[in-house]
Amino acid sequence: MLSGATPSDFAEVHVQLLTKSKIFCSCSPRFGDPPNSNTCPVCLGLPGALPVLNRDAVTMAMKAAQALNCAINPRSRFARKNYFYPDLPKGYQISQYDEPLAKSGWVDIKVEGTHKRIGITRVHLEEDAGKSLHEGFPDSEEKSYIDLNRSGVPLIEIVSEPDLRSPAEAYDYLTRVKTIMQYLEVSNCNMEEGSLRCDANVSVRRQGTTTFGTKTEVKNLNSFKFLQKALAYEIDRQIKLIESGGEVLQETRLWDSREQRTYGMRTKEFAHDYRYFPEPDLLPLVVSEKWKEEVRLSMLELPDARKQRLVGEYALADHDASELTSSKFLASYFEDAAKASGEPKLAANWILSELLYLLKESNKGITDSPVTAGNLADLVRLVASGTISGKMGKDILAEMFSTGKRAGEVMAEKGLAQISDPEKIATVVREVIAANPNQVEQYRKGKTATFGWFVGQVMKATRGQANPQLVQELLKKELG
Ligand code: ZN
Ligand code: MN
Repeated sequence: MLSGATPSDFAEVHVQLLTKSKIFCSCSPRFGDPPNSNTCPVCLGLPGALPVLNRDAVTMAMKAAQALNCAINPRSRFARKNYFYPDLPKGYQISQYDEPLAKSGWVDIKVEGTHKRIGITRVHLEEDAGKSLHEGFPDSEEKSYIDLNRSGVPLIEIVSEPDLRSPAEAYDYLTRVKTIMQYLEVSNCNMEEGSLRCDANVSVRRQGTTTFGTKTEVKNLNSFKFLQKALAYEIDRQIKLIESGGEVLQETRLWDSREQRTYGMRTKEFAHDYRYFPEPDLLPLVVSEKWKEEVRLSMLELPDARKQRLVGEYALADHDASELTSSKFLASYFEDAAKASGEPKLAANWILSELLYLLKESNKGITDSPVTAGNLADLVRLVASGTISGKMGKDILAEMFSTGKRAGEVMAEKGLAQISDPEKIATVVREVIAANPNQVEQYRKGKTATFGWFVGQVMKATRGQANPQLVQELLKKELG
């Protein structure tokens, strides 16, 4: 990136709400059903069909908005956003425009150790459009299909203030929004299924200037990794363009992950191009104080609160609690293992160092860990009681991970248990001493550095099973 320029991004995040039915009809919003099977006159946009607002969608949106520290507007309104798209049969999307459900919130992010507050402009409710599928393009005759199962699926759109200054900040912001939604259980935020989608608006300006440059909107960001790459590319492209005397066009650009670049799709519509007008088929949405309070009280524990609780309840280090609460599933896994083992700190260590490493190596998430929290707790207990050493624990865990077996089974199969019988260890210690007279002599002449070598020999002779502390004690006694 060239110096003298400040990038500035804001994000529009669409989150699909986990309701049982669509936002304005009773069709299922389920992903993956046969095309056009979850449709009715309302979500097909047939003339005369009337929308009815889904109360659950509003409740979930209110949870999301309150968790993002937004103020809920006592009265909001739906509007028609008019545009033509083959997968938008009504010719307009029902959304919220000048009177959104909620506004003026914030999310705290942390990048490279620095905390920063990102403003949330608004959170509003809207319906999703259908999906077009293109086949054969560009190699043969192109065919296009329309699937309207997604049409009318409830979404919230979360719009941030232009506070994001780097791809890393955008990444952390999105991660936090996703985590909050998952903690609240209002969305599964599955990017592959499109239940979390992000468009980023990027502009650059000379350092010191206050007015923002012309922005482009980058779409097609279906993973957090792509988001970071696309932003870095787009920031660089705009700077180079301006520095070579060119001008940034306000347009929508798509990220091409194969070519690792963005390319222009269409010049961006301005809001007035959509000819927004109040939706005449829906009454204004009125949220009473009582409803708002009910929703607030029914909200599940949020990441920050859970982190504080883990620090207090299990005496975890701040940093460990942060990492464990980075995902709701990980936090629950930890709490299950901590309770079952009675060794919270040790359980946290084993999860954060060993288990997460194994998961990462095999490209798995905590939800598909082959080692259950209960099985991890067994292992932690064995280590805590000194039945097995830490080193053996690692080997056993690796075996548990690849086979799904319990710690006890693995130990029985491999004949693994820590040798804590002083008599047995002493026998090995004497054997090692007898077999290495030269080293013994050196040690006795004052070369005490050979002590570690002796420990290693005894551990080797016991295949790592001897209790290391006992080995040290007995060696000192026998050598001295
Ligand atoms: Zn329907
Ligand atoms: Mn939208």
